[in-house]
Amino acid sequence: MKVTVSVIKADVGGIGGHTRPSDELLNAVKKTVKNAGNLLIDSYIGYCGDDVHIVMTHTKGVDNKEIHQLAWNAFSEGTKVAKNEGLYGAGQDLLKDSFSGNVKGMGPGVAELEFEERPNEAFTVFAADKTEPGAFNYPFYRLFVDALSNTGLIVNQSLAKGVKFNVMDVEKGEIAELTLWEDKPVLEAALMYPGRYVVSSIYTKDNEPIVSASTDRLHNIAGTYVGKDDPICIIRTQKRFPATEEAGSAFNNPHYVSGNTRGSHHMPLMPVKLNSAASIDYCIPIVEALVFSMHNGKLVGPFDGFSTPDWDYVREIATKRALVMRSQGFIHPATLVPAELEYAEGYNAIIDILKGKMKPLDSKQNQEKKKGSYEDPD
Ligand SMILES: [Mg+2]
Repeated sequence: MKVTVSVIKADVGGIGGHTRPSDELLNAVKKTVKNAGNLLIDSYIGYCGDDVHIVMTHTKGVDNKEIHQLAWNAFSEGTKVAKNEGLYGAGQDLLKDSFSGNVKGMGPGVAELEFEERPNEAFTVFAADKTEPGAFNYPFYRLFVDALSNTGLIVNQSLAKGVKFNVMDVEKGEIAELTLWEDKPVLEAALMYPGRYVVSSIYTKDNEPIVSASTDRLHNIAGTYVGKDDPICIIRTQKRFPATEEAGSAFNNPHYVSGNTRGSHHMPLMPVKLNSAASIDYCIPIVEALVFSMHNGKLVGPFDGFSTPDWDYVREIATKRALVMRSQGFIHPATLVPAELEYAEGYNAIIDILKGKMKPLDSKQNQEKKKGSYEDPD
């Protein structure tokens, strides 16, 4: 049976800031999806920080108008509640006034996979907040390229053959297919800069889809820096694909990502439990793991992938790294480079004052020469 898993997410409002959606907002989204009749086989709705995610299973294929319309309607209903309640950023991810056939480019993030369902289909959705799609570069690398992180790359014959990565250039809105193992250094050169190059999908060499990640808005608004969409991805697991615990453990070394307060800092990505609010301790970037089983499109789960006690230790590491980084205040690399600052306008306004005070170095040297206080270097 061919099944499509569609995960569509949006931030349409948070309580008292960018924290989490209200219960009423979530209820409005849930009610809309529940009333979809027989369009869906199954669904699950939750949140990561201020982002609400809708996981849907159906047989309509990817980029289906009815499915996207349903998600759009659900987020629109959520927005109405958010406005009524005075939530912060009400409707902020719904960039257009009306739906035009596909939510791509309209604000919400989309990750979708269509595949022939296995008898014991297993997949995990990783949902992140306060960061950018490039935040998945490092875990994807550990999972599909680095045998020191994933022994499956040696002992699983499918993974040992290598996989195909589709990597997007966020600045130019272009995409490249890179194949392991021949393109390994090229892939590494791309993944080195998550602000510029992000992974949008991963396939086996015989074209079985394994990973889909939400990069749609980045693709559609190329030319302007829009790298701060909180990302979501689907990773199919078990058998020919990575084991579920291999996918999860790719997140056990909280690596530094872009995002955080005002989308302007480098901070570690902290694995958290399902339906966690964003922390108001600098709003440390967070990621959740929704572990599902599926049969005939019916979902079992999600099991909360980062809920076991060992992840408390990883959270402690992330918190320590976060405090270390922010202990150096605004000095880069605690902050991002100017081109990646979400508040670039404010920064540029200040730096323009500095520019106005700048004088050519030569004229200053000449002035000092005249005063007799300057000596030419040898
Ligand atoms: Mg968010």
